[in-house]
Amino acid sequence: MSIPEQRSDATTAMAPADWSIDRAAQYYNLSGWGAGFFSVNEKGHVVVHPMGQPGPVIDLMDVVEDIRERNIGFPCVVRFQDVLRARVKQINEAFGKAIAEMSYGARYYGVFPVKVNQMREVVEEILDAGAPYHYGLEAGSKGELLVVLGMNADPEALTICNGYKDEEFLRLALLGRKLGRKVIVVIEKLSELPHLLRLADELGVEPMIGLRSKLTTRGTGKWEGSSGDFAKFGLTVPELIHAVRILKEARKEHCAKLLHFHVGSQLTEIRVVKDAVNEGARVYAKLRKMGLPIEYFDVGGGLGVDYVGTHSNGYTSSVNYTMDEYVGDIVYNVQRVCMNEGVPEPHIVSESGRAVTAHHSCIIMNVFGQIEIGSVEEIAQASIPQPNEPKVVREMREIVASMTPRNRAEAYHDAAAKKEEALQMFKLGILGLEERAVVESLFWKLVRGIADLNRGKKRLPRETKDLGDKIADQYMANFSLFQSAPDHWAFDQLFPIVPVHRMGEAPTRDTTIVDITCDSDGKIDRFIEGDGVDETLSLHALRPGEPYYLGMFMTGAYQDIMGDMHNLFGRVNEIHVFVDDEDPEDFYIEEVIPGDTIEKVLSRVQYEPADLFRRVKTALDQKVKEGAIRPKEGVSLQDFYESVMKGYTYLGGV
Ligand SMILES: *Cc1c(COP(=O)(O)O)cnc(C)c1O
Repeated sequence: MSIPEQRSDATTAMAPADWSIDRAAQYYNLSGWGAGFFSVNEKGHVVVHPMGQPGPVIDLMDVVEDIRERNIGFPCVVRFQDVLRARVKQINEAFGKAIAEMSYGARYYGVFPVKVNQMREVVEEILDAGAPYHYGLEAGSKGELLVVLGMNADPEALTICNGYKDEEFLRLALLGRKLGRKVIVVIEKLSELPHLLRLADELGVEPMIGLRSKLTTRGTGKWEGSSGDFAKFGLTVPELIHAVRILKEARKEHCAKLLHFHVGSQLTEIRVVKDAVNEGARVYAKLRKMGLPIEYFDVGGGLGVDYVGTHSNGYTSSVNYTMDEYVGDIVYNVQRVCMNEGVPEPHIVSESGRAVTAHHSCIIMNVFGQIEIGSVEEIAQASIPQPNEPKVVREMREIVASMTPRNRAEAYHDAAAKKEEALQMFKLGILGLEERAVVESLFWKLVRGIADLNRGKKRLPRETKDLGDKIADQYMANFSLFQSAPDHWAFDQLFPIVPVHRMGEAPTRDTTIVDITCDSDGKIDRFIEGDGVDETLSLHALRPGEPYYLGMFMTGAYQDIMGDMHNLFGRVNEIHVFVDDEDPEDFYIEEVIPGDTIEKVLSRVQYEPADLFRRVKTALDQKVKEGAIRPKEGVSLQDFYESVMKGYTYLGGV
């Protein structure tokens, strides 16, 4: 199911002497994946450039401070509404520019597919920023269409309806036509066409019809099944011809307004985009010649985002092209085919969701502890020989003491065998718990020694290559992977993870990250690092009593909406940040949206919080009656139970 990213040979844990803030920005590759929106300032904090550079700068640690002052718990989603606006502008201007440069004979009418992020504030912001370009919306279900009909009131902007449709869905689309909106019903399967024509007739409106073509060009990457002969949606070539016949028989050819295709999300290769556009443009030209006056050519979604920041190199979370190249190739290829076929150039539509929303939000979480294998204290203690040690302990000491760079693979084998021997002896009852502990600590001492020798070296004995990863610290972060980054769990999608502060200090710990669910899948062990991907991430040593904050970036597309309530960790607190040049910190928090309370997630799985409270109260009352609990304590325990119920589902202060 999961397709692992390739592994690079990136090295980990830096020598403090070589460290600098520039080195940090390079190591966490902010300029690679950040699309110009993120960098590190002289304090070593991650900063956001919501309107690009130069422009206002928001220090993420100032945002963290605000979150703390307002007592909003972590994890917290931070949305930069200006980043969203900037992306809407970028895609529209990229098309505008390409169209002008190539003297293309029509316009761009983009739509935002709301499934990518349905949140009202996100959709509103996109519509507002897109208004000058008549940017529209796409809906794939009745629920989404209800939203879109309410939100998209621009009579020139498109509303595109994809997905399988029942009668209500079709009637809703026609209601939009009654309102004078450009609502286009995309026919995904042939039977929808006569159905739509009949309902339109009944309601006395002219439908706007789109035809989805099942292209043979297939995407590469994780969504390649969205196209090709066996895809779920769209009409095959014989079905398209059948559709033309149905339209002609009903004398409704003039209602055919749009040709649609969608090759898959996060297209990693520009070649696939070109192939699909060429194939689609030919289909458009042929349909035009058959008498359908199609005006819009809809290339669907798929514009990818470079989460890794490496400009591909085979990573499916990366892409080998830029937005400008994508746009230029579409405009150029449609124009070329139209010229060749002698048909008019259609308006171009794209349904880019990921590319518009991915950058605008991140989630900030606190690291609240670590799991360390063979801690410094344990190793130091085990290193002091005791009188009358059992033979197995003495032999382990001997192996550790005689390890050299040359014999390290051999020493590792010997030590692993010795550890196993100690375990067998323990099981037979001839080795005590303390002695077994010493053997294990000595084993980890050896492993740490080998990992230190291996650090930064490219050619390593095979047996010891992964030891560094094995003894990485597990940093415990206050979040649920299943709620906040489900795509990492479902198909190994990578998201940049970066400390929000302390960038001026060398990160000295090799780590992996675990979440707070009880699920062993709730972990991250693939990271973006320099110009590659690695199984561990270098982070800073935790300081007692001092919070350490990580940001997981580029979570604005799909993650919010697909998150689930594993372990009853609910929706996360959220703030919306806007640029404000007048403010000394360049920003203000426009909105705070509290995450789910425990009460709320419990109701969703059919528990009645009041009933649970009554049950616990009854049990407490009983204990009070028996004299086991003082009445006053009983009341305060009741209050405590109730206050936890009304609180946040994530970890609070410790
Ligand atoms: C999901 C989807 C999109 C959005 O794709 P992105 O890759 O996020 O831009 C667009 N159109 C259709 C039909 C989709 O199913």
